[in-house]
Amino acid sequence: MLAAVKVGPSTTEIREFGVPDIPPDAALMKMEVAGVCGTDVSQYKLPLRGAPIIMGHENVGTLAKVGRDFERHKGFKEGDLVFLEHYLPCGHCEWDHLGEYRHCAATEWFYDPKAIRYGYTPLDTAPGFWGGFSHYVYLPLNAVLHRVPEGLSAEEAGLGTPMSNGIQWTLMDGGVGYASTVLIQGPGQQGLCCAMAAKQAGASLIIVTGTSKDARRLEVAKLLGADAVIDVQKENALERVMEITGGKGVDVVVDCSSGAGTKAVLLGIEATKRRGGTMVVQGEGNQTFPDFPIGRLTRKGMTLKSARGHSYRAVELALHALASRRFPLDLMMTHRFGLSEVEYAIKSVGGEGAAGAIHVSVMPWK
Ligand SMILES: [Zn+2]
Ligand SMILES: [Zn+2]
Repeated sequence: MLAAVKVGPSTTEIREFGVPDIPPDAALMKMEVAGVCGTDVSQYKLPLRGAPIIMGHENVGTLAKVGRDFERHKGFKEGDLVFLEHYLPCGHCEWDHLGEYRHCAATEWFYDPKAIRYGYTPLDTAPGFWGGFSHYVYLPLNAVLHRVPEGLSAEEAGLGTPMSNGIQWTLMDGGVGYASTVLIQGPGQQGLCCAMAAKQAGASLIIVTGTSKDARRLEVAKLLGADAVIDVQKENALERVMEITGGKGVDVVVDCSSGAGTKAVLLGIEATKRRGGTMVVQGEGNQTFPDFPIGRLTRKGMTLKSARGHSYRAVELALHALASRRFPLDLMMTHRFGLSEVEYAIKSVGGEGAAGAIHVSVMPWK
């Protein structure tokens, strides 16, 4: 088997390994599609935290070898097409019983060097095959799998990660539903999935913002259901939101403009309605917010929430939303690359490789 191994900052080499044997309580997944995420772009540039690593955390594959106990406990058998979550939960804490694996301490790779997470755990944690940029991925008993619904291709199921985030952040965290008005900042794959989730939930107004280089993405946003789009470099975004909403502002803001930081948050606070709005934001690492206008938040009776990953249920809903074929998913699936092109695939998502990338798939057997 081959895998693309990150051996240093922005450095990958293809390595050959023996296909591992599996114990009765494990399985081996033959990779079909590993989606490339915005997080991969920043992670790829960082120094290694230990041994080399196989990246790739948005994984869809076919079960190639399934141990007897794994099959009995999990209900999956060889040949099943599955969506693998990147969390490897402990399986018995309160969060895991709720399907909120993202909160399980065992998945906290950022703080706990022993925590295993697909795409983030190095090769020296046996058996090492923890990333999707590889021919095979190892599945212990606590791997979290979802069955890919009938009729959904592996590549389409690869949208399951951004779509589950879209459902989690927009509907479950943001509370968007029938007749809601929504502002989504950032038209990347996450933002576009937030727009689809809002549309399917019955939002009456969906506004998506982007920058001038996002022209095509903003076009796609409209084709996926956005009612209005704003180029924040050409227009005054707040004025446009107020114009579109007749001066009312929106019920919910979801910030998917990674890197825009304080500016996007300040805009979001002002763009929500006068009372009782909600904003869902994403902070990074040790990011701080000097002069945060907390008084303004209180005055508006606003709720501020953090977007961080997704629940089990959000993934189930995402896969079924994708399988409903209500949206032209092909507009999002812009690029496919083989294993030897992993670096270019990551660069493309970061805007430095192939032009016009929205969702990029690595297909390790291509
Ligand atoms: Zn990701
Ligand atoms: Zn747990």
